[in-house]
Amino acid sequence: MRYIKKGQEPQIFTDWKSQENDNWKPTYSKLQKPERPIVHDALLEEQGYTCCYCGMSITRDISHIEHLQPQNEKDSDKPKDLALAIDFSNLLASCGFSEGYKIYDPEQKYETVLHCLKHCGCKRGNNPISVSPLQLDCADFFRFTGSGEIRPAEDPDKKKAASETIQTLNLNYDNLVAMREEAIDQALQGLEELTVEDLEILIQSYEMPNQQAFSFAIAYILKQFLDPKST
Ligand SMILES: [Zn+2]
Repeated sequence: MRYIKKGQEPQIFTDWKSQENDNWKPTYSKLQKPERPIVHDALLEEQGYTCCYCGMSITRDISHIEHLQPQNEKDSDKPKDLALAIDFSNLLASCGFSEGYKIYDPEQKYETVLHCLKHCGCKRGNNPISVSPLQLDCADFFRFTGSGEIRPAEDPDKKKAASETIQTLNLNYDNLVAMREEAIDQALQGLEELTVEDLEILIQSYEMPNQQAFSFAIAYILKQFLDPKST
């Protein structure tokens, strides 16, 4: 998980909400074209077109707008906060399918993300998560292995929350682990040519906001080369 710095919401979204009057209240389900795809694109942009939880590459077609604090729209027992459901600071982009998409669509590109139903936002549903990508230190809660698995940090203050989050989001789902391992393997190629200084610069580039899939896992693994005893 990588920290996501929330930016300004698109002006068109602000304008849409400001139309509220006695007869019309803005709600998430009323957020449709043209505003909704623009909000979705803004979320993708601020996340470097990677999933807010697992870090895989996503586009608008293969992601959905995720509510960090669940909107509980389909859960009649739970309180609904209408303002929070359309609050840009509560919205993220998670892997999976765009809302309204029919899962049995035979188009190939969707088959490549069917596994997303088993992890991240699709798996989580309305369940709370203990570590969020809006926490500045969220990356410190997790460790990675060269074979693509995610593990909780050793730090006792972080371990429980990390374990719960890995489980709720099912971040060790088979396909996800395989994709993470492949990204790590690719990043490790040719490293023996690099000086320590080169490696430090490379790690920084993976830790900064960027569009590289699983970049935080790659950064973690690269750090082992610098100081194998540090973790
Ligand atoms: Zn994901």
